[in-house]
Amino acid sequence: MHDVRVEKPLLEKTDAAGKANRERFEQNGVYAINLMSAPGSGKTSLLERTLERLAPEMKIAVIEGDIQGSADADRLSKFGVPVFQLNTHDACHLDPRQIANALDRMDLTDLDLLVIENVGNLVCPAEFDLGEQDRVMLLSVTEGDDKPEKYPLMFSTADLMLLNKTDLLFATNFDIEKASDVAKGLNPDLDIQQISCRTGDGLDLWIDWLKDRVGKTKSGTHKINNHAHSHHDHNPKD
Ligand code: MG
Ligand code: ZN
Repeated sequence: MHDVRVEKPLLEKTDAAGKANRERFEQNGVYAINLMSAPGSGKTSLLERTLERLAPEMKIAVIEGDIQGSADADRLSKFGVPVFQLNTHDACHLDPRQIANALDRMDLTDLDLLVIENVGNLVCPAEFDLGEQDRVMLLSVTEGDDKPEKYPLMFSTADLMLLNKTDLLFATNFDIEKASDVAKGLNPDLDIQQISCRTGDGLDLWIDWLKDRVGKTKSGTHKINNHAHSHHDHNPKD
C-alpha cells in the first residue's frame, strides 16, 4: 500500500504529469479513458466485448494496470491491438508518470482510442489524474448497492458508470434505483448505463457512447472534465 502522507512536491509532480499526458492526447486527437472498478467487476470482460466490436473500425491501444502478472493482457492479445502491461508491484493504483512511460512506447499519431485499465480498487485510483478525457467506472450488481455511499470520490469523479452483470440481478438484493440515486446525488452529471458483458445486453449504447466521444475528440469538440482535484484524501491539510 502507498503512504497516505505523500509529500506535497511529489503530488505536484504527479498532477503535472497528468496534465502533460492530457496535452499529448489532445495534440494527437486521441480519446483516452481511465477504466476503474473493484477487482472482479468485469473490466477485462468489458474490454474483450469492446475490442471485438471496435478493433475492426478504429485504432485502439490498451494499457493494463495490474499489481502483478499479465493474465488480463493475455486475454486481450487475440484482438490484434497493442496491449501495454504495467505492473505496479506494491502500489494499488496507476500513476500518471507510469502512463507517460507507456506513451513513450506508442505511436500516438496513429491512435484513436486508448483504454487504460486501472488496478482493481475503488479507493486511490480515483485520486490520480492520469490525463484521461473521461473516467468510466464499472460497478457490478453482485458487489452490492452500497458502493457509491462507501466510495464517494470514485463515483463523484466518474463520467460514466456502467452497471455490469445485470443478468445476475435476479440472484442479488441490488437496488438499481438506490445505487443510481446515491451516485447521481454525488455527481449529477454522471451517465449511467446497464450492461451485461456475458449476454451482451446494453452494450450497443456503450459502444455508441465511445464512438461518439472518439469522433468528438478527433474534431476537437469533446468537453473534458477536470479530474485534477483529487488528492485531498492523501493530503488532508491541503
Ligand atoms: Mg482486469
Ligand atoms: Zn493506491
